[in-house]
Amino acid sequence: MSLTPNLLPTYDDVVAAAARLKGVAHQTPVLTSRTMDEQLGAQLFFKCENLQRIGAFKLRGAYNALAQFTPEQRKGGALAFSSGNHAQAIALAAQILDMPALIIMPEDAPASKMAATRGYGAQVVTYNRFTEDREAIACKLASERGMTLIPPYNHRDVIAGQGTAVKELLEQVPDLDYLFVCLGGGGLLSGSLLSANALAPRCKVIGVEPEAGNDVQQSLRAGHIVKIDTPRTIADGAQTQSPGDLTFAIIRQRVNDVLTVSDEQLVEAMRFYAERMKIVVEPTGALSLAAAMNSDLPLAGKRVGIVISGGNVDLERFAQLLGG
Ligand SMILES: *Cc1c(COP(=O)(O)O)cnc(C)c1O
Repeated sequence: MSLTPNLLPTYDDVVAAAARLKGVAHQTPVLTSRTMDEQLGAQLFFKCENLQRIGAFKLRGAYNALAQFTPEQRKGGALAFSSGNHAQAIALAAQILDMPALIIMPEDAPASKMAATRGYGAQVVTYNRFTEDREAIACKLASERGMTLIPPYNHRDVIAGQGTAVKELLEQVPDLDYLFVCLGGGGLLSGSLLSANALAPRCKVIGVEPEAGNDVQQSLRAGHIVKIDTPRTIADGAQTQSPGDLTFAIIRQRVNDVLTVSDEQLVEAMRFYAERMKIVVEPTGALSLAAAMNSDLPLAGKRVGIVISGGNVDLERFAQLLGG
């Protein structure tokens, strides 16, 4: 697929998204920690999207996309395939906008996630991960029912919506020197780059992937999109196999660096959040702090933003990860 530059969102699109999200998404708090400041010799600012509605930033992109449907599209509703936070985001956004939503999930997805998605009024259709192709199912249902498929990251309006989290952070805390952002398919990072470049042009923005799932790092090194096998990592929100063409175009142009962290380092960061800051952060949401704690970057004396992307983790799983 060839890529024309006008398909890429700009900071103006983030500003428009923020206006749409007013009164819909929470303005999430920014926390600080003297303990971590002392440990790193820096001043850290934690943007708590784990406290966003649905427990992650993804409501921002989903709502921004659905709010721009034509009357025709609204009648048909929204379709997504996801077993994670994007599913719940689409379901809630559709409920708020009073349109139908259909989510395609693997039949072995956690019962709690299916229940949460249905709780927002979405219809859930299950498929067998090993014998059926979810994209084929999605295309068939989309054309049969006149529904619009919204992908989790490679979509102009989704990227612009995700960018509102860091726009908000930089309005709450100006003049950051560094910003660490959790990275899966790159919707959050590319939106964050649009906001950071506009509001804090000197701020260095670092994307953070799990070690086993470094598809963006590999793609940047190769100079083109690299597809990897589904990575094995506890960071289930970052098990993407490749960035999208839109997210990669923005990241490649603007990012300062992409770092990786191990699952052990993620657990260490989750433990810190729980013990010292009294907050529940899911493994993927801990990527950013794990990198700040373990990088060689000269953070001493700097003002550092840490985006906590989400907090959705079953408590049994949470206890198992931290108890080990
Ligand atoms: C989806 C998600 C990510 C990754 O976001 P991308 O836009 O795919 O890079 C990170 N953390 C959490 C909690 C998520 O739900």
